[in-house]
Amino acid sequence: MKNILIVGAGLAGISLCERLLEKKVSVTVIDHQNNPSSTKVATGMYNPIVFKRLNKTWMIDEVLESMHLFYQHIEEKLSRSLKNEVRLFKHISSNDYRNFWNKRAEQPDFKEYLIPVNGDFGEVKKAGWVDCAAFVNHYHQYLLDQGIIQDEKFQLEDMHIEKKGITYKGLHYDSIVFCEGPFAVHNPLFDWLPFKVAKGDWVVIETEKDIELEGVVNNVVNIVPLGENRYKLSSTFEWETDSWLPNKNVIAELTDAFEEIYHIDYQIVDHQSGLRPSASDRRPYLGEHPRKKNVFIFNGLGSKGIILAPFFSHHLAEHIIDKKPILPEVDIKRHLKRFQNAARLSEIS
Ligand SMILES: Cc1cc2nc3c(=O)[nH]c(=O)nc-3n(C[C@H](O)[C@H](O)[C@H](O)COP(=O)(O)OP(=O)(O)OC[C@H]3O[C@@H](n4cnc5c(N)ncnc54)[C@H](O)[C@@H]3O)c2cc1C
Repeated sequence: MKNILIVGAGLAGISLCERLLEKKVSVTVIDHQNNPSSTKVATGMYNPIVFKRLNKTWMIDEVLESMHLFYQHIEEKLSRSLKNEVRLFKHISSNDYRNFWNKRAEQPDFKEYLIPVNGDFGEVKKAGWVDCAAFVNHYHQYLLDQGIIQDEKFQLEDMHIEKKGITYKGLHYDSIVFCEGPFAVHNPLFDWLPFKVAKGDWVVIETEKDIELEGVVNNVVNIVPLGENRYKLSSTFEWETDSWLPNKNVIAELTDAFEEIYHIDYQIVDHQSGLRPSASDRRPYLGEHPRKKNVFIFNGLGSKGIILAPFFSHHLAEHIIDKKPILPEVDIKRHLKRFQNAARLSEIS
């Protein structure tokens, strides 16, 4: 039986772990619970449409079914409800955008995702959200119950590459897969990949009375009804920062978007933030290290982890276990030149 070590138990690590268990592979997971995690703060929305240019989310027709099946399976396994289908409304702020939306909604390949504008809102079909914090917490508990997760910081100096696999702290594994989310930028094995980490903040507001939303409303940010007059305003995008701490300076960005369409008193009752592990070309990072055999990465899920993780964890598991090829668009080999340049530089210095 194959024996694989996974570093990181966010969406990437958990989904890969599940795919490997499905293949009857023996898995050990290392996750440092004191670390912040992108998944723990994610709003968990899935949306088949990119609002800016009204395009479909990349590969949505291929990945949507796999996403539903995956979360259904996890719900059954953990005996918890995690995935919620919701109506998603886009606030239409100009006539040009309204015309564009209505034209798109008539195109045969968009009909299943878009409803023409009604009043000031267009509606997206097949959207929803996954309760990410519950997903991570309950899956961690499952891993603990199975005795296959260790709460510690993975130390690269304790890993040794052997002819057939690796050893970590003296134990042998056939392969190791790094699923470290935004922490990958500090991993010398993979820091040559062009990560473009994007910070996100969200707030929860409590309004003085119910604004009776029929679903999630997007006006630049998502306004997610949480019940009891509470709404999550999610989320900002901030580049070139590696701080996980909430940034007070971006709160107005969130609340302005809300105030533009709702005129009601409210107070902020929560404010959280995290880093998204985004790739410069917005495609996930999958594959084997160019020089270290049996050392893999699964990362770069960016702001689409909910949709992408189920499909690409399966894809990577099929590659590692069944030797199936990786789609070139997500294979880290697309950045081989960068790796070669970085390797050359480190050999010179
Ligand atoms: C504010 C915000 C809102 C978001 N909203 C959405 C959304 O609505 N929809 C959506 O699809 N996506 C959303 N995302 C993005 C989503 O969270 C990510 O795509 C996804 O969670 C990334 O998962 P990951 O497993 O790669 O990283 P993470 O969840 O960060 O997991 C990495 C794990 O690795 C562990 N780790 C790292 N290094 C080590 C080490 N050396 N030793 C031990 N453990 C280690 C960390 O502790 C962590 O648990 C959002 C992100 C943010 C920040």
